[in-house]
Amino acid sequence: MANLGIPRNTIEVLQKYNFNFQKKFGQNFLIDTSVLERIISAAQITKEDMVLEIGPGIGTMTQYLAEAAGSVVAVEIDKNLIPILEETLSAYTNVTVINEDVLKLDLRQLAEEKNGGKPIKVVANLPYYITTPIIMNLFESGVPLNSITIMVQKEVAERMQVGPGTKDYGALSLAVQYYAKPEIVANVPPNCFIPRPSVGSAVIRLTRHEKPPVEVKDAQYMFSLIRASFNQRRKTLANGLSNAPELGLSRDRVTEVLENMGLSATIRGEALTLEQFAELSNRLLTK
Ligand code: SAM
Repeated sequence: MANLGIPRNTIEVLQKYNFNFQKKFGQNFLIDTSVLERIISAAQITKEDMVLEIGPGIGTMTQYLAEAAGSVVAVEIDKNLIPILEETLSAYTNVTVINEDVLKLDLRQLAEEKNGGKPIKVVANLPYYITTPIIMNLFESGVPLNSITIMVQKEVAERMQVGPGTKDYGALSLAVQYYAKPEIVANVPPNCFIPRPSVGSAVIRLTRHEKPPVEVKDAQYMFSLIRASFNQRRKTLANGLSNAPELGLSRDRVTEVLENMGLSATIRGEALTLEQFAELSNRLLTK
């Protein structure tokens, strides 16, 4: 099968199948061989690896993944793409296509069945409308993971990488950095896709930590504190947390703990590092 990273080959396939792009599925297909090569090299795939690809589209990146990996499982929601994938991937015996919504799949079970429970690598040009749920699901589902190398909206990639004191810092930055080391590996302009997205894109690699960089008694509790602080970003942390009914915290209790940590009672959540959120969470759980 011809390399679909070359625009004329993609156009030929789309025309042959009279394919209509579905905006609701975030369909922007890659048509740039150098970007595809960059993603594959950033993902550091070997023949030992099982790769999970989310949203193969017409199979452009899947072809590259199939060449580099031991096996590839590609999960595609759009049933209209399945007959196309059968043709474009027909040369590969190491690819399995699953027609499903990735958020509904039991990924842990999939890794168990297809890779004997060994860590997998995720590589994807993600549908931008569900970037955050997909990433959080990958980390929280307990699927054994080595790394996630993904194309996302540029601004979202930046949000994952930044620390306190910047406007992009938020719950996503802290969640990603708790589970993984983020590194932006390429910026990708709209003309590398068909149709062109209205935003710039970036490839980011998230290398899973073997052990989280902070020790927390209860990670879910820390994340509920983080969510509550950034939901009310412009409030002080003491007000933001005591206003969140699910936490059941008084303003005085939060102020007392902040002061014990040597922090001002008027500090905002956006100024706290992951280490400080971990400490705050551990202290609030101690009676
Ligand atoms: N990998 C292809 C490429 O790079 O050319 C296509 C990428 S396109 C940005 C995103 C793909 O994800 C589309 O094929 C879309 O149909 C698929 N998709 C959207 N939502 C999905 C979901 N919930 N589960 C699985 N695939 C999904």
